[in-house]
Amino acid sequence: MDIRLENLTKTFSNKDRQVETIAVNNFSFTIPSGHLAGLLGPSGCGKSTTLFLLAGLLEPTSGKIFFGDEDVTALPPEKRGIGLVFQNYALYPHMSVYDNIAFPLRNSKSFREQHKDARERKSEIDRIVQETAKIVAIEELLDRKPAQLSGGQQQRVAIARAIAKKPKVLLLDEPLSNLDARLRIQTREEIRRIQQATGITTVFVTHDQEEAMSITDEIIIMKDGIIQQIAQPQETYIHPANVFVAQFLGNPPINLIDVSICDGWIILNDRKTVKTKLQDGNYKMGIRPESFALGTQDSEEAVAATVVYKATIGRDFQVRFNINGRLCEALIESDSRIETGDNVFFTMKRSGVHLFSTDGEREEIW
Ligand code: ATP
Repeated sequence: MDIRLENLTKTFSNKDRQVETIAVNNFSFTIPSGHLAGLLGPSGCGKSTTLFLLAGLLEPTSGKIFFGDEDVTALPPEKRGIGLVFQNYALYPHMSVYDNIAFPLRNSKSFREQHKDARERKSEIDRIVQETAKIVAIEELLDRKPAQLSGGQQQRVAIARAIAKKPKVLLLDEPLSNLDARLRIQTREEIRRIQQATGITTVFVTHDQEEAMSITDEIIIMKDGIIQQIAQPQETYIHPANVFVAQFLGNPPINLIDVSICDGWIILNDRKTVKTKLQDGNYKMGIRPESFALGTQDSEEAVAATVVYKATIGRDFQVRFNINGRLCEALIESDSRIETGDNVFFTMKRSGVHLFSTDGEREEIW
């Protein structure tokens, strides 16, 4: 079932109604059926507000939400057919894992109406609990209490509870932030596997770019309640729509340099380097640390620079130098011969060079 937002807006005003925050500013997009979409952006950009609007926990100021062909904008949460998983799994501590998963089914009016006979209902619940436990790989844990589980296992129980009712849409709000680094990676892969196994259209809120990059079909990147880019993860990295997206994605971050283009050439450290089709003028150039390599004076499109810092990081050298007065960082293969103080020539991978308008709002195709 696809999810469609039409001009969705949510504003909050303070008590005296003077300051207004536009938490969600005129969102219109569709998440295709069966996709896992990530809402990504810094704190306060409106991710949770968007999720709460989808869940029906908040009412939009204007605009509409459709699940498939159905306009759900005015429906309360329990009528939307959603599964919700929050950061704090909110499992019932006194109940076993089995009962935690069964609880929403036992309490569902529509489920009771569908299965009127108590014995039949009990066996149907048992079938669903076993089936769901198998999907999230917790069959062995059904008799335990939540306190007897690891964080990752608790999160899987929370997901099992959310999907047992066969929701049309699964909404996950920072579901991994309570887990340690290793468990986060394991559990995010697990979430992707479960999502693909069930085919439920899923929206996943995170502020962690790596998390969003690794498991989503598309990323919706937001800032101050405004959508910056919606694209497949790889696309947002290769073709960031603006400087904000370019800077938000990638670790270490992209280098940003003020450049001018003369006769079509990008001038870096007083040297004509890369030839473009762009009009002469001023631009912002972004280049990712891993897009530099060591060249020679004769290398095409090489920039001359003096190394001011070098350190070894895993397999690479982290190298710093100035371009057009800006300190830049490169990750260079550690079999290169390079030392602090060396005057060197760096070549740049063309696919790693991005040019933006000087206000940073627009990527220029060069
Ligand atoms: P985080 O990553 O910190 O959870 P977020 O991206 O989920 O942030 P939201 O919680 O959606 O951001 O908040 C978006 C904006 O709306 C923020 O400026 C926030 O202060 C504001 N906001 C959220 N809820 C309310 C509210 N109930 N009343 C007033 N302002 C609110």
